[in-house]
Amino acid sequence: MRLILLGPPGAGKGTQAEILVSAYGIPQLSTGNILRAAIAEKTPMGLAAKEIMDRGDLVSDEIVNGIVSERLDHEDCKPGFILDGFPRTIPQAGALDKMLAEKGMGLDAVVEITADPDVLVARVINRAKESNRADDNPDVIRNRLSVYSEQTAPLVEFYRGKGLLKSVDGMQPVDEVTAAIRRAVHN
Ligand code: AMP
Repeated sequence: MRLILLGPPGAGKGTQAEILVSAYGIPQLSTGNILRAAIAEKTPMGLAAKEIMDRGDLVSDEIVNGIVSERLDHEDCKPGFILDGFPRTIPQAGALDKMLAEKGMGLDAVVEITADPDVLVARVINRAKESNRADDNPDVIRNRLSVYSEQTAPLVEFYRGKGLLKSVDGMQPVDEVTAAIRRAVHN
């Protein structure tokens, strides 16, 4: 199963990806998690990404494309993977198509988790109390939502055009969202 989870910050991509990891026995590839680990380890990539992430902007396509291409070559991705937070721009989606073709892999589905923007702001502010993510605060979350509508939302039509898009209502309880995703990917 090769899946992309698409959706605005706070829609529940990370939560759903973690649940699907155990359901399908395939890894979650979260570019955000990989970048946060690089920041914690103070690697050159982490140092370059930190300020951009703290503002809620996108790090360069070159950096994230490199992370994903390298990660897809790991043995654990052979049976499949769940991409969470990548691609986030049309050029990233193009790069992903190219790298998957080169690796002889194809996507099974792109699941869009939809959510009400007002609820998202509240959710992410709430998440900030439990996480120490520097980008979970009201100003930054608003920027991340506008970055999403400008740069990432066009991917919905991109993948619809490829016949891969499934939309799931992310405003339902967590287990119902999971059930809806599982139904969507098996159709
Ligand atoms: P996330 O954990 O997916 O919400 O990502 C947190 C932050 O990491 C984003 O706001 C971006 O700054 C950066 N990031 C994660 N994935 C990408 C990506 N695919 N392209 C560009 N920046 C990314």
